[in-house]
Amino acid sequence: MQHSEQPAEQPFWRTKALEDLSPTEWESLCDGCGRCCLVKLEDEEAGEVHLTRLACRLLDHGTCRCSDYDNRFDKVHDCIKIDAAKVRTIDWLPATCGYRLVAEGRDLNWWHPLISGDPDTVHQAGVSVRGWARCESKVKPSNMHRYIIKDFGA
Ligand code: SF4
Ligand code: SF4
Repeated sequence: MQHSEQPAEQPFWRTKALEDLSPTEWESLCDGCGRCCLVKLEDEEAGEVHLTRLACRLLDHGTCRCSDYDNRFDKVHDCIKIDAAKVRTIDWLPATCGYRLVAEGRDLNWWHPLISGDPDTVHQAGVSVRGWARCESKVKPSNMHRYIIKDFGA
């Protein structure tokens, strides 16, 4: 007997380029890790950018999402709008970032909400900054260098 099963339909992030995603698809590709909202310190003399475990003052440390997403650019002048071009050029986006994975032709991880169906799995997997980042507003600017980390999770 012959089987006539249809191949499983590929999810949108496996078939579409980042540039072709709808706004809803684009937003859903963010796993909610909050890692891109960590403060970066720029060493202008050395031309280096250092990552810290300090989070932007607007980050909600429970959900690891922006607490005022619609007005973020008005409230935080250096908040960066991530688009397809930036995903390919920003070197501080974590290797786990949903946008970066898709840009590199890789699939999402099991804990991504689009795979698990649960926004909490990114936290359960220890990928988000929950319980690990500190709010930048609680630290004096002169002490921020003490929070420099080598990499995410360091
Ligand atoms: S690093 Fe990527 S996946 Fe994580 S919050 Fe930022 S944009 Fe979303
Ligand atoms: S304003 Fe919101 S989106 Fe921008 S860095 Fe801060 S917490 Fe993240």
